[in-house]
Amino acid sequence: MRKCRNRHLVCACILAAVLCLIGGCLLFAKFKCSRDASSNQITTELFAMDTYITMTAYGRDAETALSDAEDKLIELEQLWSVTDPDSDIYAVNHSDGQPVSVNEETAELLSFALQMAEEANGALEPTIYPVLTAWGFTTEENRVPSDAEITELLKNVGYERIRQEDMTVQLESGMMLDLGAVGKGYAGDLAAQVLKDNGITSALLDLGGNIQAVGTKPDGSPWRLGLRDPFSGGTLGVLEISNQAVVTSGAYERYFIGEDGKHYGHIIDPTTGHPAESGLASATVIADEGRLCDALSTSLYVMGMEHAIEYWQQHQNFEMILITENGEIYLTDGVADSFVLDSYHSNMTVHVIQDEEI
Ligand code: AMP
Ligand code: MG
Repeated sequence: MRKCRNRHLVCACILAAVLCLIGGCLLFAKFKCSRDASSNQITTELFAMDTYITMTAYGRDAETALSDAEDKLIELEQLWSVTDPDSDIYAVNHSDGQPVSVNEETAELLSFALQMAEEANGALEPTIYPVLTAWGFTTEENRVPSDAEITELLKNVGYERIRQEDMTVQLESGMMLDLGAVGKGYAGDLAAQVLKDNGITSALLDLGGNIQAVGTKPDGSPWRLGLRDPFSGGTLGVLEISNQAVVTSGAYERYFIGEDGKHYGHIIDPTTGHPAESGLASATVIADEGRLCDALSTSLYVMGMEHAIEYWQQHQNFEMILITENGEIYLTDGVADSFVLDSYHSNMTVHVIQDEEI
């Protein structure tokens, strides 16, 4: 009898140890946190929205603030995932033409995406998903679809056909919504707002390359970011920003090489249904809001340089750095003084885009 009780005790201890280990692992899966006590700096890392996210915040309340920001990002991922059967987007995509009620933040993101699609004259196309799938970018089983297949799929593409009234969204049967080109930027805005609401005045968020800065560095100097070289994957130069967002789009992020030896990127030109070939290697946008940066970086990449410059001249509520396929840099006047090329790239030609050019 005693032996039996002891055995139960041993079993209970082993079970408790296993549960603790599992609990610890789950906690680790949600976030990895590191602290630098001397500077009151806390950094957390997590994987959400299909990307690695790193957030660094300074100050006494940084830990709580970051934990709240993480919760927000995970909540948004659950709303906007295309594949999660519990998400708002999934519900809209599987409604067979029926109206669907969505969360307030989903409704805001969608109405912003539709407005940007309109302003970008369709270069941003939140219903491009079926075409993207045909190229295998959603499954990683890449292939080059036939022209007939693309023509057929493009019949189900067209942001103008989405009906939205406040928090109710209706898609025609066969259409699919994907807010991947704008969602990370908007998520960055909302996470930064959570940090600010927690009293944080200095933080840097990196959502898979989408950068969102809260204030300046704790010493009051601007944040210094490396701008990625789209050709080598290294850095091209350093960009200084304060309290702004920076987002880059480029075909180097996700692509495949076809049997024909051609490079096919994940950003689709909605007019052709093929990966965009606009002559740009990357488009970087700097502005106050991450959502604007995200929507525009994708749109300008699709538009190509001439249309991107025209768009900037008409709007001017953002700055941009465009890198052409032949290795030239075009940047807008307002960012010229805050971007410095690395010395070993000093042979690259830099053009400053002025107000009245073109
Ligand atoms: P980004 O990395 O922000 O430029 O967004 C690219 C992602 O948006 C792709 O991986 C696709 O999921 C989706 N996408 C591709 N082409 C377009 C497009 N023309 N308009 C909107 N979303 C797109
Ligand atoms: Mg984008």
